[in-house]
Amino acid sequence: KPIVENIPLNENIVKKYGNLRVIHGANLTIADGEFAVLVGPSGCGKSTLLRMISGLEEITGGTLTIDKKVMNDVHASERGVAMVFQSYALYPHLSVRGNMEFGLKIQGMSKAERDARVREAAETLQITDLLERKPKAMSGGQRQRVAIGRAIVRDPQAFLFDEPLSNLDAKLRVQMRQELTELHRRLKTTMIYVTHDQVEAMTMADKIVVLQAGHVEQVGAPMDLYHRPANKFVAGFIGSPAMNFIEGTAKAAILNLPNGKAFKLASEIKPYEGPATLGIRPEHLDFAARPDQGDLQGSIKTIERLGADSFAYIDCDGLVLTIKSDGDQDMRLGQEVGLKLDPARAHLFGEDGQTLIIHT
Ligand code: ADP
Repeated sequence: KPIVENIPLNENIVKKYGNLRVIHGANLTIADGEFAVLVGPSGCGKSTLLRMISGLEEITGGTLTIDKKVMNDVHASERGVAMVFQSYALYPHLSVRGNMEFGLKIQGMSKAERDARVREAAETLQITDLLERKPKAMSGGQRQRVAIGRAIVRDPQAFLFDEPLSNLDAKLRVQMRQELTELHRRLKTTMIYVTHDQVEAMTMADKIVVLQAGHVEQVGAPMDLYHRPANKFVAGFIGSPAMNFIEGTAKAAILNLPNGKAFKLASEIKPYEGPATLGIRPEHLDFAARPDQGDLQGSIKTIERLGADSFAYIDCDGLVLTIKSDGDQDMRLGQEVGLKLDPARAHLFGEDGQTLIIHT
């Protein structure tokens, strides 16, 4: 298997369905062995991009290279990638073994080699006991393991996953997330994973690619996107509950809040004067000691207690802000509160939505 430092996967990739342009020139490099997650809201073009990499979808413009070879016109079966679908796509009339060795049989691989590969993949995925069963006699989680097993036996250069955990219940999703991370650590094979779930992206990725409306908004390591979002979209998409946004007017690092108070950020800011949005995550807001203290005043509209944490929604003259605090935080509905914004954790976005913070 070739060891390459860098796989320039896409250069200016464009996708059009008829006259409708759905990918607007994606430039993206995924390194060999990396776990890359393409994330974004429904309809942003994640699956289309993945399907263009796999060869299931024609590329309208740009260059796709895998391991330095241009792949635009190479048939899906010749690209050395294996796709795992949300729907599992198993053959119902074949056993688990039959499903896993199907592609290898078509390639003309010997029975001994097929058996060895199936045995090893089944052990890795802990489905050895299920090899003679039919898909209909298995749970969703087991079927998804078979679908992954079918990809593993092909020993691909890269695994492509299209929302593989979406059909599983919440608990099993968490477990499978950990198993996939573990599998990646063991196989060290490049994985490209599509999801709309930012938690899956944060927990599994080495590199996250955030897409919106066919544009790549930002590429980076999970905590990089959390701490240094390039724009308002990424800031609002990464992190749960979502970042609070407060509209105002900024001059350098000072933003005038809706209540007329001036708030000074601790970060260094690009030269700017005009309408701006302050961003502050729920975990970077605090209750002031008294309701008339702090940067903003409001009243508690809703309280959600999750056990370890609680979230409260504070109505500040029509602007509702989310604050994260301790599960046992003393608070009640309708209570008047003051809110403190952490000046070192606040974000600032210009009128075009781009960050104004200079990250050093
Ligand atoms: P995602 O995976 O992020 O939910 P998709 O890649 O499935 O998004 O779709 C991206 C955009 O392309 C959407 O606006 C979708 O409606 C459109 N699209 C997808 N497939 C087709 C198709 N076969 N014909 C026309 N438009 C399509």
